[in-house]
Amino acid sequence: MLSKRENRVARGPRLKKALAGVVSGSIDRRTFLKRSGLTAGGAALASAVPLGAVKKAKAQAMSSGAAQIKKNICTHCAVGCTVVGEVSNGVWIGQEPGWDSPINLGAHCAKGASVREHAHGERRLKYPMKMEGGEWKRISWDQAINEVGDKMLAIREKSGPDSVYWLGSAKHNNEQAYLFRKFYAFWGSNNGDHQARICHSTTVAGVANTWGYGAMTNSLNDIHNSRAIIMVGSNAAEAHPVALQHLLKAKETNNAPLIVCDPRFTRTAAHADEYVRLCPGTDVAMIWGILWHIFDNGWEDKEFIRQRVWGMDQIKSEVKNWTPEETERVTGIPGSQLKRVARTLANNRPGTIIWCMGGTQHTQGNNNTRAYCVLQLALGNMGVSGGGANIFRGHDNVQGATDMCVLSHSLPGYYGLKTGSWKHWCRVWDVDYEWMKGRFASKKLMESKGIPVSRWIDGVLENKDKIDQPDNVRAMVFWGHAPNSQTRLPEMKTAMEKLDLLVIIDPYPTFSAVIPDRKDGIYLLPAATQFETSGSRTATNRSLQWGEKFVEPLFESKPDHTIMYLFAKKFGVDKEMFKHIAVKDDEPLVEDLTREFNKGMWTIGYTGQSPERLKLHMANQATFDKTTLQAKGGPADGDFYGLPWPCWGNAAMNHPGTPNLYDTSKPVAEGGLCFRARFGVEREGQNLLAEGSYPVGSEIKDGYPEFTMAMLKKLGWDKDLTAEERAAIDKVAGDKTNWKTDLSGGYPAGRRQARVRALRQRQGPCGGVDLPGSGAAAPRAALHQSAGSAAQVRDIRGQAGLPPADQVRVDSEERLLQGVPDDPHLGAPGGVRGRRRRNPVQPVAGRASAEHVLRAQSARRQQHRRQGRPASLGA
Ligand code: SF4
Repeated sequence: MLSKRENRVARGPRLKKALAGVVSGSIDRRTFLKRSGLTAGGAALASAVPLGAVKKAKAQAMSSGAAQIKKNICTHCAVGCTVVGEVSNGVWIGQEPGWDSPINLGAHCAKGASVREHAHGERRLKYPMKMEGGEWKRISWDQAINEVGDKMLAIREKSGPDSVYWLGSAKHNNEQAYLFRKFYAFWGSNNGDHQARICHSTTVAGVANTWGYGAMTNSLNDIHNSRAIIMVGSNAAEAHPVALQHLLKAKETNNAPLIVCDPRFTRTAAHADEYVRLCPGTDVAMIWGILWHIFDNGWEDKEFIRQRVWGMDQIKSEVKNWTPEETERVTGIPGSQLKRVARTLANNRPGTIIWCMGGTQHTQGNNNTRAYCVLQLALGNMGVSGGGANIFRGHDNVQGATDMCVLSHSLPGYYGLKTGSWKHWCRVWDVDYEWMKGRFASKKLMESKGIPVSRWIDGVLENKDKIDQPDNVRAMVFWGHAPNSQTRLPEMKTAMEKLDLLVIIDPYPTFSAVIPDRKDGIYLLPAATQFETSGSRTATNRSLQWGEKFVEPLFESKPDHTIMYLFAKKFGVDKEMFKHIAVKDDEPLVEDLTREFNKGMWTIGYTGQSPERLKLHMANQATFDKTTLQAKGGPADGDFYGLPWPCWGNAAMNHPGTPNLYDTSKPVAEGGLCFRARFGVEREGQNLLAEGSYPVGSEIKDGYPEFTMAMLKKLGWDKDLTAEERAAIDKVAGDKTNWKTDLSGGYPAGRRQARVRALRQRQGPCGGVDLPGSGAAAPRAALHQSAGSAAQVRDIRGQAGLPPADQVRVDSEERLLQGVPDDPHLGAPGGVRGRRRRNPVQPVAGRASAEHVLRAQSARRQQHRRQGRPASLGA
């Protein structure tokens, strides 16, 4: 592992450099072979070539145009490695990993090294096609948009807008993902979703409900500061190969022990100092087993818990049940090993936890993620560099597409679906709320969760009277989504055959195009890859990176946002939808899309990352520190790479981004943050706000509720507002306008204003962490018992001149009015809207979970014995 790297720009493929001299006739053959490093191989090859086969080569004239170097991002995983493309005369002729990128440090894995083939692949869908009489026929774009559009409009007329399902993608860039969510809102339905429902939805729900935001808290680079690393259900060596170099750096420089917990001995486990083999699905028991030793020995961080965590006592009483013997009985992990793990984690702080699909894709995945959070909180590893929950995401823009809410239950920025949220986005879009409401079958459906991707099949096959929408799903659009990642394939095939219309929009004809036995009613529309367009994508660490267009869309493909525009035009909503977005030759201006979501996404701070700032970062990657991610000098001096969200305020405020979530050692204006209270400020008379914990420089020395205009007035900070800002705030909801729905956002440089001051604090509520419902014990009422004295409720209201706690509690009605984000739980508990069936995904609780797991293991072992497989496979 190298600990020192050279910063340099890749200037192009070595072979091309060597060839340049050859074709111009300026070097001889020997020099060429030497430069290209081909001497040995070339000599071997020459000896194998018959003499008569050697002819004088006729080299083609070298192109006069100099090759252009462009930067984009690998499309194969969420690590976010920079791809440097070499483009000559509009042809993508070579690629190199980005040497200046602080994320990949000049490395690519095998997947990234092949992205040029992704664009140039011989199986690319070249032109629109339709299945007719059992044959694929080439058609024009005009015909495709008209025919598909007419069929959809007919379905809309007869069955309502919810009978068309829009399945989007983690392969959209942020601008396309945002436009896609806006697009199906303008169509008049919440029946849209994407792959995140299948992968990290359990993480988003678990993590957001624990400390506020549903995302990776630190960064790959920050792992350099870790003194211990525990990985659960993550095989980064294969799934996120370039990420592994950051872990190995911590191993090398800090001697950080690497603990890998996985039922399989993976390639990642091969790097581990401690490999923990657990029985599949026993993650919560394993974590509780580790915590048993931590609490038993008093190794928890008591001061951190006192200040920032609510409910740990209840966790402790549950953990008491998980003795080494009981844990071993359930997980198969020897008690002595978990004691060693606990001691290692306690002795090496700060430590980080990493998890991936092995932890999330379980029926109790949400419990697992809550338990991982509890472990980090008990150790005091949150909000510190080197600590955190480093949750590696999958697709290159799955974080961004989730944030843009290509989902069935919320609007961009996780603003739920209630009236306040719709009104907020209508203000951003500059459309009349009543007009927007009229696009939906009813207000009720406008405010109801749509069908999640995991259940669209039921939307097609279920009896109409069991679905809470006027009719079945009759048309399905797979836009950048191949459904082979989903279960229930036989039913899926049946559903695909029952549809009136199946539309696949993708660079490749996917699995969806071939599995249904249909003779007509399928359309394939060729989409461009991310290398044929531009825009931002959000890496796993919340950094946004701007990808440049390498080449024009190949063959007859079109970028996703252009296709959306063509459909919007066909549906007659283009004028409203693109009111403030320039369109040229049917292509919406990508930068205008960024600016539009900048205007509305206050909740998670997607407001400060203007296209200009993001492009500046890509152009000056070398100025960013490879560990802190902060620019040292250069035009982006002080910014954190990619302005990781939240990046508060508008671009003019120059917020640097937030590299590590919940880090109170910095002022909020410089990237600090406290936990976000999601459950109000008190519970049963107990304080849920932080106790004496606040970001450095905060004027309020404690936790505090959400900023509203009323609160600004009480603090006297409203006097800093300009007349325009005050008018904008009044227009929303007067004193009830909160920081998430105020669009004024104007901060003339250097002026000390209310929003600037609020920013110094934190825009949202500053809270402690709320642990009720954590992990396996979630349903137990005991967890909701008292955890402290009501007298402990800290009265920030004294400082802020606010009314008593019970009056400032954010009740649900007010939350709805203010457009507070809905529950981030991506799984729709009711399944298909109001479907009269019990949710098959039940929380698995404590001992019940253990018994369930043991029974399943025993059955599996018996099955393996019958099959003559080694017993260990069943463990
Ligand atoms: Fe691409 Fe991920 Fe490999 Fe990097 S680690 S090159 S982003 S697949």
